[in-house]
Amino acid sequence: MLSPVLTVEAVHVSYGRIDAVRDVSFEVPEGGLVTLIGANGAGKSSVLGAVSGLVRPKKGVIRLDGKDISRWPIHRRVGAGLILVPEGRQILGSLTVAENLRLGAQRRRRHAVAESDMYRLFPVLAERRALPASALSGGEQQMLAIARAMIARPRVILLDEPSMGLSPKMVDEVFTVIEKIRAQGVTVVLVEQNARRALRVADTGHVLETGALAHSGPAVELLKHPKVVEAYLGIE
Ligand code: ATP
Repeated sequence: MLSPVLTVEAVHVSYGRIDAVRDVSFEVPEGGLVTLIGANGAGKSSVLGAVSGLVRPKKGVIRLDGKDISRWPIHRRVGAGLILVPEGRQILGSLTVAENLRLGAQRRRRHAVAESDMYRLFPVLAERRALPASALSGGEQQMLAIARAMIARPRVILLDEPSMGLSPKMVDEVFTVIEKIRAQGVTVVLVEQNARRALRVADTGHVLETGALAHSGPAVELLKHPKVVEAYLGIE
């Protein structure tokens, strides 16, 4: 067994009186691809928020390489290689593609990879490097958001609904990129509403229902699990 690079232990996230995440625990092995699936509002983004440091959990522990990082600020987690690609991309539209990448690289300067490596991984960005990011399509902006994280050479990349709102062709491209990232040895935590696609690329899946884990297991088994099929996969 590979030792986990990331551990989420009994994490609880509340917003006022709303319990968004209840007693969620899972491990992410080094180089693995773990997906969290579930309906709108199930708490998926809140789990990533707790892991990335955006949200302070009420209870529970987040560990990186066994070390408790629960109280670390976001920038320290980024420095350690734990990098979030937030839902809605949050790239800087008035800056060029290249400038957005440079900002990503600055977040982890000693580890950053060359911009040219990113253009090799994301050819569509190479052609558009001098354009303002706001001129890119939704799918291209998603690629830029992922590239801006990848240029900082993450150890663990946290992807929050990368396929959301994209055309079928761009959804295919996003999943191809996720497989390439994985092939580079980067550990991936993927939050998706597109459960079938996510389970097809993942090793392990966790299904969140109203803040709690309802099903967990190897992705190939969840793809066949009658309750998961009924609620999240339906007919193809
Ligand atoms: P989505 O796919 O819609 O992002 P999700 O599974 O990622 O859903 P979360 O965004 O984590 O779910 O939300 C879980 C619950 O917490 C929801 O009921 C949501 O309304 C609530 N919530 C999320 N963020 C906040 C916040 N900042 N303040 C108050 N409630 C919040």
